[in-house]
Amino acid sequence: MKAHDGMYIDGAWRPAVGTETIEVVNPVDEQVAARVPAGTAEDVDRAVRAARAAFPAWAATPPAERAARLAALRDVLAARKDEIAETVTTELGAPLKFSQSVHAAVPVAVAGSYAELAATYPFEEKAGNSTVHLEPVGVVGAITPWNYPLHQIVAKVAPALAAGCTVVLKPAEDTPLVAQLFAEAVHEAGVPAGVFNLVTGLGPVAGQALAGHPEVDLVSFTGSTAVGRKIGATAGAAIKRVALELGGKSANVILPSADLAKAVNVGVANVMSNSGQTCSAWTRMLVHRDQYDEAVELAATAAAKYGERIGPVVNAAQRARVRGYIEKGVAEGARLVAGGPESPRERGYFVSPTVFADVTPGMTIAQEEIFGPVLSILAYEDEEDALRIANGTVYGLAGAVWAGDEAEAVAFARRMQTGQVDINGGRFNPLAPFGGYKQSGVGRELGTHGLSEYLQTKSLQF
Ligand code: NAP
Ligand code: MG
Repeated sequence: MKAHDGMYIDGAWRPAVGTETIEVVNPVDEQVAARVPAGTAEDVDRAVRAARAAFPAWAATPPAERAARLAALRDVLAARKDEIAETVTTELGAPLKFSQSVHAAVPVAVAGSYAELAATYPFEEKAGNSTVHLEPVGVVGAITPWNYPLHQIVAKVAPALAAGCTVVLKPAEDTPLVAQLFAEAVHEAGVPAGVFNLVTGLGPVAGQALAGHPEVDLVSFTGSTAVGRKIGATAGAAIKRVALELGGKSANVILPSADLAKAVNVGVANVMSNSGQTCSAWTRMLVHRDQYDEAVELAATAAAKYGERIGPVVNAAQRARVRGYIEKGVAEGARLVAGGPESPRERGYFVSPTVFADVTPGMTIAQEEIFGPVLSILAYEDEEDALRIANGTVYGLAGAVWAGDEAEAVAFARRMQTGQVDINGGRFNPLAPFGGYKQSGVGRELGTHGLSEYLQTKSLQF
């Protein structure tokens, strides 16, 4: 697979400062697919300077012109969707169909939504005798993970550009190729030099340099809670804006009146999708004790069907981590009804779709984010018990509620401490604000709420 051997800075591919490289490994066959440069603090500094220099002109660009560039970016992403899908399949290991329908398609929708918002958003409001101007925050440092590699880039870069901010992106070391492809797309879309910059590299080197750079005004991070905590502390010390999109341990609450088979089948599909590497995945299924055995049987059957269809997890360390959690689940007394810790294939970072029954709320597998194809099924006594269990983790990113009656599901969802809830299998909405309650994060992405993260207010009194 082709890769750039430089950084995209100030409108061109420029040689990296150092000579270190990162190997991009295909998780399906464990072969090196490409190499990209490992950026240093100096590469980051060059990129941030370019973003700073480009900021005044981009901030002053009429919103209609920013909208036109975002529409062009959407069109380039759409035109190059096959290449994007193949790239994500190579570096993440996602099955090609899933790469096409999700990894390549969702970014087109999100870029399109910001092309529209840039054109229509009221960047000026009246409040009594004041005019309030919504102005771009400045230079954005974006740090993204590997699980939805292009989506997570676009969910930060598109609103930042719509707002009039300039950006330096540090993508995950496991998935830098689609980030390079994105930089090409930005270039093709005619975005002025310096408005978007890319530095590939390692988190503790390039990522840390970006988060701590004094000329970065806002850090937008998606990834683990551990790293998010560090980035939040660094930003706090510098009185810098920060948005954190962190982990999750979402509950799929199946109320007794629900269509049980549908709720279980959709729930299993949700967890196994992207090999379980979805921060908003409903990894805890909550079922009334009278329906518990039936739900477990349905889930085990559904999971077994995924055996051949899911891709590997992203790397050897993640596979070891996920298998460690499965072993811990067994050790703490949960009952395996599908899958298990053994690798289903000799080559590739595969994990069997795994389902645990007899999981109790205090178990490690019911509390910690596993980030693999592992579902825990818990029994509840009554609705209050279900709510206690659903809200009983440090996370609050997403969730689902199923009931015979929509109003009943909504009433339960309103009591959940979480940022998004799908009612009876509601569809993904690229305009709905996405983000966490509690330790799942700070701030929101997507739609107008995602745009306002990149804006600050100036009030003029008359
Ligand atoms: P991570 O380390 O938090 O990675 C996220 C991003 O932060 C990557 O670009 C990473 O670079 C960078 N980074 C790492 N250390 C940094 C530091 N000290 N300063 C600045 N940036 C830094 O996540 P991970 O190691 O890839 O995955 C570990 C776990 O995080 C997963 O098992 C999962 O539980 C969770 N996770 C959650 C999400 C989510 O969407 N909420 C996404 C991914 C992972 P490198 O790529 O070089 O590490
Ligand atoms: Mg990492």
